[in-house]
Amino acid sequence: MSKPYAIHWFRRDLRVAGNPVLSHLWKTYEGRVLGLFCFDHSFLSRDDFSVNRFAFFLDSLKHLRSELREAGGDLLVMDIGPAHAFEKLFDQILQQENHLPECVGWCTDYEPFARKRDEGMKDFLESRGVSFFSHRDHVLIEPHELCKPGTDQGYQVYSPFAKRWIDLFQTPEIQTRIQQAKRGVDYLRSVEKKKTTSLFAMKWNDVLPATNFREDLLEEYIACNKKKVTVEIPATGSQAVLERLEHFSKHIDDYADERDIPSHPGTSMFSMYLKNGSLTLALIVAFYELRAYKKKNESGRAMFLSELIWREFYYHILYRHPHVEHESFLEKYRGLRWENDEKKFSAWKEGKTGFPIVDAGMRELKTTGWMHNRVRMIVASFLTKDLLIDWRWGEKYFMEQLLDGDLAPNNGGWQWAASTGCDPQPYFRIFNPWSQSKKFDPDGTYIKTFVPELSKISSDKLHDPQSMAANYIPQIVDHSSQREKALKLYKQG
Ligand code: FAD
Repeated sequence: MSKPYAIHWFRRDLRVAGNPVLSHLWKTYEGRVLGLFCFDHSFLSRDDFSVNRFAFFLDSLKHLRSELREAGGDLLVMDIGPAHAFEKLFDQILQQENHLPECVGWCTDYEPFARKRDEGMKDFLESRGVSFFSHRDHVLIEPHELCKPGTDQGYQVYSPFAKRWIDLFQTPEIQTRIQQAKRGVDYLRSVEKKKTTSLFAMKWNDVLPATNFREDLLEEYIACNKKKVTVEIPATGSQAVLERLEHFSKHIDDYADERDIPSHPGTSMFSMYLKNGSLTLALIVAFYELRAYKKKNESGRAMFLSELIWREFYYHILYRHPHVEHESFLEKYRGLRWENDEKKFSAWKEGKTGFPIVDAGMRELKTTGWMHNRVRMIVASFLTKDLLIDWRWGEKYFMEQLLDGDLAPNNGGWQWAASTGCDPQPYFRIFNPWSQSKKFDPDGTYIKTFVPELSKISSDKLHDPQSMAANYIPQIVDHSSQREKALKLYKQG
C-alpha cells in the first residue's frame, strides 16, 4: 500500500454509523482506514469487572467487525494493551516494508484511566512520526465547551447545567453535529437494507500480508467468557440498535408518565448501548428529532431529553472532578462513619432484606444485569441510609452486575442517593421503601415478578411492614430507627 492511510482505534465507540472520527478519517484518506481494537488486560483485571457486560461488549465488537468487513473494511483485534499493541503493529508493518499509517484516530474518552492512557499514546505516536486525531463522540457537548458564562468553570448543580446545555444545543455549531448524526441514522437504515458495500478501500492484508496475528482471537474471547455469563445477553449490533430506537418511538411520548413505573416498558433501555458506543446521544437526538421543548404536551420528549442531559452532567463532573471516582464529591462527607456490616451487605446483594421492593430490585439486577432507574434509587438509598453501608460498596457491586455499568452515571447515581455528590439528594430526604413501593408498584406486579414467593400475597400487604413481617422473610433492619441513625451520621459528617 503506497497511498497514505489511517488507523481508527476503536475503544468505546463500537459502531460505524455517525462515528465522527471514523468518518473524518474515511473522508481524509478516501476510505483507506483500518480498524483496530486492543484488549487491555489492566482493564480486564479491574476488580469491578463484569463478565456479563464484557459478553455484551464482545458481541458488539463482533458485530462491528462484520459490519466493517461487509462495507469493504477490516478490524484487527489484538490481545495486548494499546501501548504495546501499536508498537508491535508498527514494527511488523515496517518489517514487511510497508509504511506506517499517517494518522491514528480515536474518539475522546473522559474517564481518568483513559485520559492518562491517551496522553501516553499521543507521546508514542509523536515519537514515531505518526499524527493523531481525537474528537468528541461520547457526549454531545464536551466539558470544556460548557462553562459558567465568562469563566472556564463548570456547573456543580444540574438545573443551571441543563439550562446552559439547552442554550448551547440550539447553537448552529451543535446543530451541525446533529445534522452529521442524521447522516448516521441514514447509514443505520442503509445497513438494514444492505446498501453499504465498498465503503472502505483497505484491508489489513494490504499492509500486513504475512502476519501471525490471530484471526480467531475474538471468537476465543467470546467462547471463554460465555461459559461464565449468568444473564441473557441482549441483541447487539447496528440492527439491534435501530430496532431499539424504532421500538422506543412507541413509548417516547408517554415517557413522563411511564418512566417511574418499573413494571411498565416505559424507558428506552438505551443505556447499555450508550455505554459501549453502539449508540450516542447525538444519534438519539437526530433519530427522534429532539429539540428544546417548551410546550407542556411535549413533556415526554422533554423529560427524556432531560435524562440524557443528566448523563452528560455526570460525564462533565467526572471530567472536571476526577477524584469522585474514589471519594465523595463533598469533602464534609468523606469521613462518614459507615457501619459496613458484611452480613447486611450480603443480604442486600442477594435480595433477602425482607423489604419486597429492595429485594425485587436486587434480584432483577442479579438475574437480568439491569435494574429500573426508580428501583436503583430505592436500593441505593436503602444501602446507604437504612443499612449505613458506604456507597462505594454499592457502586462497585453495581459495576460488577450491570450491563450498562458506566463509571460516570453510576458514580453520579450513587453519590446522589448517598447525598455525598454534586447536586445530591439532601441527606435528610430518606426514601421510605414502603411508601416508594406503594407509589411506584401499587399492584405489586414488579415485586411479584422478581420475588415469586410473594406472588399470592394481596398487593396492599406488600407495602405494609407488619403484614410483611408475618408473610415474608424478616426485615433485617427497622426503617424508622435506621432513619434516625442515618440523620445522626450525616449531621456528625
Ligand atoms: P431512560 O430512562 O430511557 O433514559 C435514557 C438515557 O438517559 C439512559 O439510557 C441514560 O443514558 C440517561 N439517564 C437516564 N436516567 C439517568 C440518570 N438518573 N443519571 C444519568 N443518566 C441517566 N446509568 C448508566 O448508564 N450506567 C450506570 O452504571 C448507572 N448506574 C446508576 C446507579 C444508580 C444508583 C442510579 C440511581 C442510577 C444509575 N444510572 C446508571 C442511571 C439510570 O438509572 C440509567 O441510566 C437508566 O436506568 C437506564 O435505563 P434506560 O436506558 O431505559 O433509561
